[in-house]
Amino acid sequence: MSKTTLSWKDEVASRAEGLIGLRRDFHRHPELSMAERRTAGVIAERLQAAGLEVRTGSEATGAETAVVGILHGERPGRTIAWRADIDALPLNEIPDLPFKSAVPGAMHACGHDGHAAVAITMAEILAARRGELPGTAVFIFQPAEETLGGAQRMIEAGVLDDPPVEKVYGIHLTTLLPAGQVGVRPGPVMASSDFFEVEVKGSGGHGAYPHLSIDPITAASHILIGMQDLVSREIDPTQPAVMTIGEIKGGNRHNIIPETAIMRGSIRAFDQQVRDQLVERLGAYASRMARAYRAEARVTIGGQCCPAVVNPEDEAGHVHRCAAGEIGEEQVTAPPPVMGSDDMSLFLQARPGCYFWVGAAPADKPPAPHHHPAFELNEDSLAVGVRTGLAVMMGALAAP
Ligand SMILES: [Zn+2]
Ligand SMILES: [Zn+2]
Repeated sequence: MSKTTLSWKDEVASRAEGLIGLRRDFHRHPELSMAERRTAGVIAERLQAAGLEVRTGSEATGAETAVVGILHGERPGRTIAWRADIDALPLNEIPDLPFKSAVPGAMHACGHDGHAAVAITMAEILAARRGELPGTAVFIFQPAEETLGGAQRMIEAGVLDDPPVEKVYGIHLTTLLPAGQVGVRPGPVMASSDFFEVEVKGSGGHGAYPHLSIDPITAASHILIGMQDLVSREIDPTQPAVMTIGEIKGGNRHNIIPETAIMRGSIRAFDQQVRDQLVERLGAYASRMARAYRAEARVTIGGQCCPAVVNPEDEAGHVHRCAAGEIGEEQVTAPPPVMGSDDMSLFLQARPGCYFWVGAAPADKPPAPHHHPAFELNEDSLAVGVRTGLAVMMGALAAP
């Protein structure tokens, strides 16, 4: 390394204030999935100023609020992508921070404000070192992760094809790990997610004369309880699986039997076969259960869904080595997989790569869960994200 070039640690440290400021700016102006207009504008502006080739708009990126930044290094190398999600959640923020959300009903409660700031800063640092950069770095800023819609649109629009991306990496900040740590593991790390709706159709009437009606609420209740037996009696007990109903709607008065009852829920699994089995069995189970109560059930599955996040062995090993080199082996852990989902899985289905955790738990109090209105991020995590991210990208770009 030449004398004029700072080490990454120093370079990132010298940009720490800007990095945190950028994250706070996104935090103050959260935007919901597919409405990330201001956020995308800020990202595109920063990348343009740094000299990247910037693509925006539906045709080039698959979504109005997606941004792709392409950075051609001056040395030969590989084409590697870094993916960051940028959307916020429909929550009213509780903590009274100076950079608290200025938008009622929207809040960055998952850390995507941090993901965006980290990725922009990485792009700016690499752009400043274009002369020593091998290959082509592609920065993918994806909208609508929380609704699991953004990744597919971007992949379908060809963001991995032009230029031809070989591998995709990315981080998720997590308050399950202390700031300063990185978590990486090969194999499944996050579950698949399938949205489903069960509509039970009966025949309404007076609550005092149930024999003259077909009660969809009783039928739906039995479907709800019995559904759990699909997990406990039909799935290999060594394979994790979850079926949760998070929403029930039926009726609007205590003494009227309604015509229909609707339940909405989520199926989670790590193994594709388990996922397929539950998706397939739910329909048959619900409709037969309903029939036992003279009702009818219709199951719709799809919409918001994605496969499990699975890290190939080689790429997870690469991240582990790079992170250990950057922050020390003792700070790199292999946390257990989680049943949460992320449509980074679609990028990793399309190309090898790795999705890894960067610890962001507050230092002075127990963390509020992600997606909670009291969620807070330890901003020390941002510099760790940038440093490990740069090491991962530089290593992959320069790979023989
Ligand atoms: Zn989230
Ligand atoms: Zn998230």
